[in-house]
Amino acid sequence: LGKSINQALSSVTRATGDVDEDTLDAMLNEISMALLKHDVGLAQVAKLKTNIKKKVNIKETLPQNRKRVIQKAVFDELCALVDTQQEVWKPKKGRSNVIMLVGLQGAGKTTTCTKLAVYFQRRGFKTGLVCADTFRAGAFDQLKQNATRAKVPFFGSYTEPDPVVIAKQGVDKFKKDMFDLIIVDTSGRHRQEQDLFDEMVQIGDAVKPDHTLMVLDASIGQAAQLQASAFKEAADFGSIVLTKMDGHAKGGGAISAVAATQTPIAFIGTGEHIHDFETFSPQQFISKLLGIGDIQGLMEHVQTLKLDQKDTIKNLQAGIFTLRDLRTQMENVMKLGPLSKVASMIPGMAQFADQLGGEDSNRRLKAMVYIMDSMTKKELDSDGQIFRDQPTRVVRVAKGSGTAVREVEEVLAQQKMMAGMAKKMGGKDGLMSRMKAMQ
Ligand code: GDP
Ligand code: MG
Repeated sequence: LGKSINQALSSVTRATGDVDEDTLDAMLNEISMALLKHDVGLAQVAKLKTNIKKKVNIKETLPQNRKRVIQKAVFDELCALVDTQQEVWKPKKGRSNVIMLVGLQGAGKTTTCTKLAVYFQRRGFKTGLVCADTFRAGAFDQLKQNATRAKVPFFGSYTEPDPVVIAKQGVDKFKKDMFDLIIVDTSGRHRQEQDLFDEMVQIGDAVKPDHTLMVLDASIGQAAQLQASAFKEAADFGSIVLTKMDGHAKGGGAISAVAATQTPIAFIGTGEHIHDFETFSPQQFISKLLGIGDIQGLMEHVQTLKLDQKDTIKNLQAGIFTLRDLRTQMENVMKLGPLSKVASMIPGMAQFADQLGGEDSNRRLKAMVYIMDSMTKKELDSDGQIFRDQPTRVVRVAKGSGTAVREVEEVLAQQKMMAGMAKKMGGKDGLMSRMKAMQ
C-alpha cells in the first residue's frame, strides 16, 4: 500500500512542469485505487479525495508551492484514516483496573499480555496477569513462562476447565492484593465461532473489565476488517493492539480495522520480544507506511520552541560554563519533549524510542532541574568549586530538592565536564578564537 501511494505521490513531486488540476486528479485516482484495493471503505476514500482537493485548492495556490501543499495534504488525510480523534484508555491510579484481551488464536494475545504488563509496570502500576485460556493446551505454560521472564505476577490453573471460573478467581485474588492493573488473557480458537464469542461475553460478565482490547494481527491484510467488525459486535472493545507490525503487508489492515470499528489503535507489536511494543501514533504509522521519518516535523518543532541559547553562547566564548548554563540547557532539552518522541521522528530511530524511555529519562532530567533550582544565585552562577570547598552545600541542595546527594554530585560532575570543555574552546587562546582567526 505504501509503495502504491508513494508512486502516486511521486507522479506529482517529480513532475517537471507546473502541477495542475489534471495532475492532481490523476494522483488522487491512483491513491484511491490503492486504498480501495486494500479494503478501505468507499465512503472514506471519497472523503479523503474531497478533503485533499479542498486543502490543496489548486487555483489559489501558487505554482511553486503546489507540490509541497499536495504532499502535506495527502500525508494529513492518510493520518486521518487511522486517527479516530479519541483518547486512548489509560488505567487510573489508586484503584484496580481490569483489562481483558480478545482476538483470534495466533493474533498475539498472550504475547501482548506480557508486553502490556511490562509497559505499565514500568510506569508504576502494580500489574498481574490472569490466564483464562483453557482451550489451547499449553496456554497457561506459555503465559507463565513469559510472565516469569518479565517478573510479572500471574494466575492460572492446570485443573480448572472453566475459563470463566479462573478469570473470576484470578481477578478477585489480584484485587484483594491491591493490584493496580489486572490483565486477563482469553482463548482465541481458529475461527470466529459462536462458542468463542459466548465465552468472551461470559468472562466479561464475570470480571467486568474496565477496558477490552482487541488484539489484531496486522499481517492478515484484507481480513482485518471482517474480523474487527465481528469482534466489535460480540465484545465491544475500546481499543486495538495491532501485532506483527514488523512483518510485511501491514498498512491496509490497520486502516481497515480502524475504519470498520471507529476504534483507536492503542499499541503496536513490532516483534516477539517483550520490548517490541510501542504506543501508536497516526503520523508515525503513516510515515513508516510511506517510508519516511518525520524530520521535517522535527525541524518545525524545534523552531517553534524558542530555545534560550544567548547567554550560554556568550559564556562559552569566554571559556565559561556555569551551573546556570547547565540549567538552561537542561530546560532546552526538556522543551523538545520526551526523548522518545524526538527519536520517533528520526528515520531509523523509532525502534529506540521506547528505550530512550519516556518517563525514566524525563524524571532524571526533571530531578536535575529541581537540584539546580535548590541552589542559591551565587551557587548557580559559580563554576561549582564552591560546592567542593563546602560539601555541606551539597547536602543542603539534596535535601531541598528531594534528591540524593549522589544525584547532586552527578549534576556537579556534568557541569564540571562541560566547564572543562568550555575552557578549552573559549577564551582568547581557545579553539573558537583560533578557528575564527583561521577563517
Ligand atoms: P495468541 O494465540 O493470540 O495468544 O497469540 P500468541 O501470543 O501465542 O502469539 C502467536 C505467535 O505470534 C507467537 O509465535 C508470537 O511470538 C508471535 N507474535 C506475537 N506478537 C508478535 C509481533 O508483534 N511480531 C511478531 N513478529 N510476532 C509476534
Ligand atoms: Mg494465547
